Amino acid sequence: TADWQHSVAILGSGESGMGAARLAVSHGLSVFLSDGGSIAPEKTIALKSLGVDLEENGHTVADLIKCKEVVKSPGIPDTAPVVQAIKAAGILVISEIEFASRYTDAKIIGITGSNGKTTTTLLTTHLLKGAGVDAKSAGNVGNSFSELLLDGDPDVVVLELSSFQLDDIANFKPDVAVLLNITPDHLNRYDYDMSKYAAAKWRLFENMTEDGLVIYNQDDEWSSKGVAEVTARKQAISVMQAVTSGAYFSQGQLNFTEEEEVILTDELALIGQHNYYNQMAAILAAMELGVSFQYILSGLQSFVNAPHRLEKVGVVNDVTYINDSKATNVDAVYYALDAVDTPIVWIAGGVNKGNDYAQIKSLVQERVTTLICLGKDNAHLIDEFSGDVEQIIEVSSAAEAVTIAYQNAKPQESVLLSPACASFDLFSNYEDRGDQFKREVFELKTSQSKVL
Ligand code: ADP
Repeated sequence: TADWQHSVAILGSGESGMGAARLAVSHGLSVFLSDGGSIAPEKTIALKSLGVDLEENGHTVADLIKCKEVVKSPGIPDTAPVVQAIKAAGILVISEIEFASRYTDAKIIGITGSNGKTTTTLLTTHLLKGAGVDAKSAGNVGNSFSELLLDGDPDVVVLELSSFQLDDIANFKPDVAVLLNITPDHLNRYDYDMSKYAAAKWRLFENMTEDGLVIYNQDDEWSSKGVAEVTARKQAISVMQAVTSGAYFSQGQLNFTEEEEVILTDELALIGQHNYYNQMAAILAAMELGVSFQYILSGLQSFVNAPHRLEKVGVVNDVTYINDSKATNVDAVYYALDAVDTPIVWIAGGVNKGNDYAQIKSLVQERVTTLICLGKDNAHLIDEFSGDVEQIIEVSSAAEAVTIAYQNAKPQESVLLSPACASFDLFSNYEDRGDQFKREVFELKTSQSKVL
């Protein structure tokens, strides 16, 4: 005897909220969407034409708790008063991933980790498609899961999942789960407690049983701990030692235990040790869904990654410029410094997320000549690295950073933008930061060719 005013309420009108609203309506549910801020006019029109009831600039808890359940945007933390009030009233709060998963029969590959999610998600999709499988990616990359399903079920959905999206799942059960790594990030949302952050990531496989496969990073402490109890089949990836089932790197090649196949790392399009993990995980996931080894190598070679991830922008005066703006935490920077095997002019800085730089200290001493601090508050970086590099220079724009880099980099060196920080002090987001950097490098190239 339901006396709910609406069958579902949606908190937030972002990508996931809009997708969930459309999917809900397409399944005949009555929807109430509530946004704490303003809703863009074109979204308001779209939602009203679907028959969705709306409120903006605040949440009316009394109305929200008249709904059967609430789909929460991943951007809203559990500690938000509105979420607390809904939960206190006994109403189920779920993520958009949980909601969408009820409406599909597609096979699901779920990919999470602190770093490498987008790369691995896109590569897995590319490998599947290269073998003729109807695969699409969604989640934290591209469209929301709900939006994707509006076009009908593909054979396989490859989902990039952040810990925020996993926070509020209930019955979500992927066929294949990939756990790339768990290193410090977003700790402000988890009471600065690694075990809470790790527990959110482990939720990826909490509903999986023997029929599923979990692929995990055996070199990573928190990932290995997380799979200890799972009943699903397990395959490990490692760059440190041979594994019994899965894939590992040794002596210049990736080895696949089940197929007894190898791939020479020289043949791979993606550089850097972190990408050995990403590629091994993507290959194992694709093979689990039936892609045969003969398609794998050509897929790996034709893959073009999303921008801002160790993206080579150009060479000016024999100096290589690399855009790694997506490196917003220390672990990502570790792999960038490790992958670039020349002396480095390193551009870093921005909004510090409580960084501990111990992990990269010796790499910085070994590789970095000049540190260019691009941010409003550079004190932490300067404190940490003065004494480790030849010079530290502070700048306050991408243009200035590239000019200073150009003046200080010597032939055969690399200029690496790999910030270890969020971008919101000077830029609208990491894409904006990377795009501005690229534009400045292109201008440098053009002005150089004019001089010649
Ligand atoms: P995510 O989607 O998890 O943020 P991306 O593929 O977008 O991951 O990569 C983000 C940053 O992390 C980039 O700077 C990239 O070079 C680096 N990175 C990618 N894969 C890994 C990995 N497996 N371990 C550590 N860093 C990685």
